[in-house]
Amino acid sequence: MAINENEFNFPEAELVKQTEICKNCKNIVVGKGDLNSKILFVGEAPGRNEDEQGFPFVGAAGKNLDKLLNNVGLSLKDVYIANILKCRPPENRNPLPSEIKLHTPWLVKQIKDMKPEVVCSLGNYATKFFLADGIVEDMDKQVGITSIHGKVKEMDFHGVKIRLIPLFHPAAIIYNQKLKPLWEEDMVLVKEEIQKSLL
Ligand code: URA
Repeated sequence: MAINENEFNFPEAELVKQTEICKNCKNIVVGKGDLNSKILFVGEAPGRNEDEQGFPFVGAAGKNLDKLLNNVGLSLKDVYIANILKCRPPENRNPLPSEIKLHTPWLVKQIKDMKPEVVCSLGNYATKFFLADGIVEDMDKQVGITSIHGKVKEMDFHGVKIRLIPLFHPAAIIYNQKLKPLWEEDMVLVKEEIQKSLL
């Protein structure tokens, strides 16, 4: 049972609590950073470290994300970071469509509250979720991160005008060093887009 689940008693959180992964996790991982920021990063799901500490991207992938932020002159105080799933799937398996369906209304609520201008989606799950306008059934029909990374897409996401920047997942860069030059090119773009929002 999640240790901090009593803190969350609104409808979107109740949906998360219905899922098996929530019953079996240590922490519901909501997000970290500044909710007043105009820049949101969205990853896939908490891993072991995130589950233990209750914050997203605190493990190896998080170190890469910190470097990314650093490279574009940002730190945690300038952005907010959340995930598609709020709880760790066992053995870090891929999120199930049923889990995405029950966990993402909370993410959509976070986006409506925060109204970010730039959303960097990290990896396939987050990217396909936004491209499908949050309709889980349509996620499979979306193009993969390899063809769409680094392409800015302006969209109205549930009433919030965002510039979506699909990026490789920071963990993918660890496993596949060939992605590193592409990732670095994308960072130039991230920097430009973020600067537009900070003006
Ligand atoms: N990978 C993710 O997608 N999110 C995290 O919070 C950690 C690793």
